[in-house]
Amino acid sequence: MKCRRCRADAVIELPQHRTAFCAECFLHHCRQQVRRTIEKYSMIGAGERPLMAISGGKDSLAAWDLLLDLGYDADGVYLGLGIGGYSDRSGEYARAFAHQRGVKLIELDLATDVGFTIPEAAAQRRTPCSACGLSKRHLLNTVALEHGYTVLVTGHNLDDEAAVLFGNVMRWDTEYLARQQPVLPGGDGFARRVKPLVRLGERETAAYCIIRRIDYQVEECPMAEGNRHLGYKELLNRMEERSPGTKLEFYNGFLRRMQPLLDGVSSQDKGDLGSCGRCGSPTTGELCAFCRLTDQATDPQHRSTPRGRRGRKRRNNSRRQVVGAG
Ligand code: SF4
Ligand SMILES: [Zn+2]
Ligand SMILES: [Zn+2]
Repeated sequence: MKCRRCRADAVIELPQHRTAFCAECFLHHCRQQVRRTIEKYSMIGAGERPLMAISGGKDSLAAWDLLLDLGYDADGVYLGLGIGGYSDRSGEYARAFAHQRGVKLIELDLATDVGFTIPEAAAQRRTPCSACGLSKRHLLNTVALEHGYTVLVTGHNLDDEAAVLFGNVMRWDTEYLARQQPVLPGGDGFARRVKPLVRLGERETAAYCIIRRIDYQVEECPMAEGNRHLGYKELLNRMEERSPGTKLEFYNGFLRRMQPLLDGVSSQDKGDLGSCGRCGSPTTGELCAFCRLTDQATDPQHRSTPRGRRGRKRRNNSRRQVVGAG
C-alpha cells in the first residue's frame, strides 16, 4: 500500500476517503482537515485566542496540538471530575502536554471548586454521563467567559458527532438536533463553542497522537458503562465496516440538508432563555440545570431555590491553578 500523496510506503489506510498515507502525509491530512473545518465554519477569528477544553484523552490533546501547529495561540482548560485514579491520571496527561509545549493550562476541580464529584452526583440517581456533560458544558463556558475567551474549542470528533446525531434522531429531539452544529454562536452568556475535529474519526486522532508521540489517557472511564452513545458508536462502526464513509455521509448529509431547516428552532434562537436566579447563566427555568444538579449532588434533601437554602455559591477563582507558560 502506497501513500497517495508521495508514493512512499503507507502507514495508515483511510477507507472512508479511499486513500492511504505515510506518517508525514497523514499529519498533513489531519492539519488540512482541521484547517478547512475552521475556515469553512469561521470558527476562530484572526487574532482570537481560543480556549481548548482538555480531558487528557487523545481527541482533545490532538486538537490542542493541531491548533498550536496551525498557528493559534490556544490555551487549555482541564476540569477534574473526581473519578478516582482515572481523573488523577487524566489530569497528569493534560499537565504533561502543557508543560512540554510550554502552553497555559487553566485547571479547576469539581470537588474543590463546586463541592461534588461525578460519582457523588451519580449516587443521587443521576446518570453519571449526563451529570458529567452538564458540568463540563456549564463550568467550561463559565471559565471561558470569566477569563475573557470568546471561543471555547472541544475535541468532539466525527465518531462522537455521528453517535450523538444518531441518538438525537432516535428520539427526534428537535432542540438538540437544532443545536448540533460544528459552531454554536457566542453571546448572551455563551462563549462561541466550536468543534474543529468533526471531519476526523477516532482512529485518526489516535494515529495522530501516536505519530506525534503525544501521551494520552487510554483507560476507559469507569463510569462509562451504560452510556448510550457507546452503543450507538458500536452500531455505526459495524455499518462503517460494511460500507466505508457511512459516518461522514450521515453527519455531513445532516449538516447540508437537515440543519438549515432547523434554523430558529432552539431555545437560544427563539430568545426563550432567561438568566438563572443564582448564577446568572442562560436558562429556560428559574434555576439553571447546573445549579439544580449542584443542589442535588451536595445535599439530596435540598429543595432548589434561586438563592439556595444555604446560599451555596461556587467558590471563586482562588482555587484555580495555571500550569505551563502564560
Ligand atoms: S464516560 Fe461519562 S462520566 Fe466518564 S468522562 Fe465521559 S461523560 Fe464523563
Ligand atoms: Zn506520503
Ligand atoms: Zn445557575
